[in-house]
Amino acid sequence: MRPTGQLHLGHYTGALENWIEQQNLLQPDGTRAYETCFLIADYHNLTTSLDTGSIYAHTIDMLTDWLAAGVDPEKSPVFRQSQVKEHAELFLIFANLITTARLERNPTLKEQVRDLNMESMSYGHLGYPVLQAADILLYKGNVVPVGEDQLPHVEITREISRKFNAHFPHPALGEVFPEPAPKITKFSRLVGLDGKAKMSKSLGNTILLSDTPDEIAGKMRNAVTDTQKVRRNDPGRPEVCTVFSYHQKFSSADALASVEAGCRSGALGCVDCKKMCSAAISEELAPMLDKRRHYEARPEMVRQILHEGEARARVIARQTMTEVREAMHLGEVRE
Ligand code: SF4
Repeated sequence: MRPTGQLHLGHYTGALENWIEQQNLLQPDGTRAYETCFLIADYHNLTTSLDTGSIYAHTIDMLTDWLAAGVDPEKSPVFRQSQVKEHAELFLIFANLITTARLERNPTLKEQVRDLNMESMSYGHLGYPVLQAADILLYKGNVVPVGEDQLPHVEITREISRKFNAHFPHPALGEVFPEPAPKITKFSRLVGLDGKAKMSKSLGNTILLSDTPDEIAGKMRNAVTDTQKVRRNDPGRPEVCTVFSYHQKFSSADALASVEAGCRSGALGCVDCKKMCSAAISEELAPMLDKRRHYEARPEMVRQILHEGEARARVIARQTMTEVREAMHLGEVRE
């Protein structure tokens, strides 16, 4: 995840919730189903902005939200890309395993060019998925939790992995890299409070994970609903309502059924419905808010967690790069 500061509900439902589930998932024998690593992709920020003045503050803010949401640094090392130099090293090698034509065909990139009206882009931006491949394969990730828009990038990672393994068989290991599979979150996208397709800080339509119940209720008052439900008793269409989409995520099955029936019949007004929705969201976020306050009061602890995660990541990254060099005959070859 790029360090863009405090996280919002969209980050939670689109990524974080799924990460934590994977982190804590156990197999029938009680052992962990996955070993998880969580990367703060600070180099990736450079592809769209050279303004790095707040990057450290944003990193700490984001990490605090991760910890508050349940990322457990004992189980999952958390680390910055910029502090593990092997990311850049592996990126350099991978950059030679893919053509610019292939990267230009990347549909996510094409979308960005269209949406942002970009006339040209930096070399680094074009190579964004190659750095992402290095991020994943440095830790030999075989499962990558992603949103749908990132699927083409995982495909590029798979291609690079195959190409490396085919060109550079390791004398002892055979293949150095796995071919990672994407794991899409069940509820990957949350619409913004204004009804726009995506919750996004730049659109100002978010609920932050650090918002208090009052702040959530205040924001919810302005949320877009079914525009045809003008008066309280008008029947509504939950399927077109932003607030209902939040109920689907955060309310219990019983509450959801009663909201749906009440909305359709006109028995439920939007004001009350929004109050119920804010309460459900606040309830979900309450433990996070408490944990956030705990970490906010202990900034040294957060910094320490980051440094320890980076030390652990470096050990894995160095080992992978040793194998990469061995496979490429760039260093000593282990017999
Ligand atoms: Fe949306 Fe609830 Fe109003 Fe129906 S009653 S339109 S679900 S806010």
